[in-house]
Amino acid sequence: MKVDFLVIGQGIAGSWLTYFLHLAGASFRIIDKSEYWNASAIASGIINPITGRRFVKTWLADELVSFADEHYSAIEKVCDAKFYSKEKIFKALHSNQDLNEWSAKAKTGYYQPFLASDELYYMDESKFNLPFGCFHIDNAARIDSHKFLSSWRSYLELKEFLISEEFSECDLSFKNNAVQWKGIQASKAIFCQGYRASKNSLFDFLPFAITKGECLHVHAADLGLRNILSSKISVVPLGDDLYYIGATSELNDSTLHPTSKMYNRLIQDLNTLVKVPYEVKGHYVGIRPTVKDRRPFLGQHPQFKNLYIFNGMGTKGYSLAPYFANKLLLHLTEGKPIDREVDIGRYQEKYENA
Ligand SMILES: Cc1cc2nc3c(=O)[nH]c(=O)nc-3n(C[C@H](O)[C@H](O)[C@H](O)COP(=O)(O)OP(=O)(O)OC[C@H]3O[C@@H](n4cnc5c(N)ncnc54)[C@H](O)[C@@H]3O)c2cc1C
Repeated sequence: MKVDFLVIGQGIAGSWLTYFLHLAGASFRIIDKSEYWNASAIASGIINPITGRRFVKTWLADELVSFADEHYSAIEKVCDAKFYSKEKIFKALHSNQDLNEWSAKAKTGYYQPFLASDELYYMDESKFNLPFGCFHIDNAARIDSHKFLSSWRSYLELKEFLISEEFSECDLSFKNNAVQWKGIQASKAIFCQGYRASKNSLFDFLPFAITKGECLHVHAADLGLRNILSSKISVVPLGDDLYYIGATSELNDSTLHPTSKMYNRLIQDLNTLVKVPYEVKGHYVGIRPTVKDRRPFLGQHPQFKNLYIFNGMGTKGYSLAPYFANKLLLHLTEGKPIDREVDIGRYQEKYENA
């Protein structure tokens, strides 16, 4: 069988890339063995344009938020499923310094439309321990990650584009200016493997700085929280009094088991934040494909010109993946250059010296 593209991995990166390839009418197959720990599936799926201790607007926030809004709504229609919602995030303040930091930014032009209000909100003090109050982040969003991934996977299965198998580089060969994999000949192969690319001998020259993340699901019948709450940890309403609590971050740890150390840390943070009883329903792990310079990895392998990578989404896959999947598509189909900031060409020298 001959196709234009062979895509490896159906996390958020591979999902968005295949969506745009499909829209563009390109032929492709996607290989994904879903039994692996997949960061995309355990993510809380939040798109938050204001982050960090100093409440700064994130890199490309304006472009990413409006691109996500348009295209998550569009992919919902293709999948005939609902997994995207616009959200207001309640961001907790913890000191007078926080208060000053936020009030200098609220309502100023640069922070619109994300800090549209200069009013503080105080949570019910019988339930939450937040004496300094919260401010609102507007125009945030959340994607139900399980629903998104499974809906797009079902669509790929229906169209017979998905190969549910383990991929190994050993089965890949090059012939007639194309790549061959188990009876499939593709003009190009694109690796969307998440953190596992850091162990792929073709791409292990890239400076991944992977981070393990752990999170909990808890049931809290009396909490009554309807918006996302972002404090030291995030509390995300999942429906039916179930909440996502997370997440932790451990640099360069790719072990796939949940730990009691991180469980205790999450419970301690939750006990500091809420005053109502809750029951832990699940404890999950994912490995984020984070990068030393915090910019995605897009582009062509320095030596094997039929091979490409789409990776390095770090902590923000749900906003970065749609935007940069489209950029990669325009490069692959129309030859548009990839921005130097995200092109893996920035590590050409590192590859040559490896
Ligand atoms: C706890 C936690 C919370 C997070 N919360 C958020 C959030 O709220 N918002 C946000 O934007 N981001 C969040 N992230 C980050 C986000 O999850 C990542 O940026 C994103 O999931 C990376 O997607 P990916 O497709 O590159 O990798 P992955 O999700 O890891 O997907 C890679 C896929 O490739 C497949 N694969 C790899 N190798 C092979 C092979 N050899 N054969 C077959 N299949 C293969 C895997 O099975 C997997 O399905 C969070 C991450 C964690 C861990």
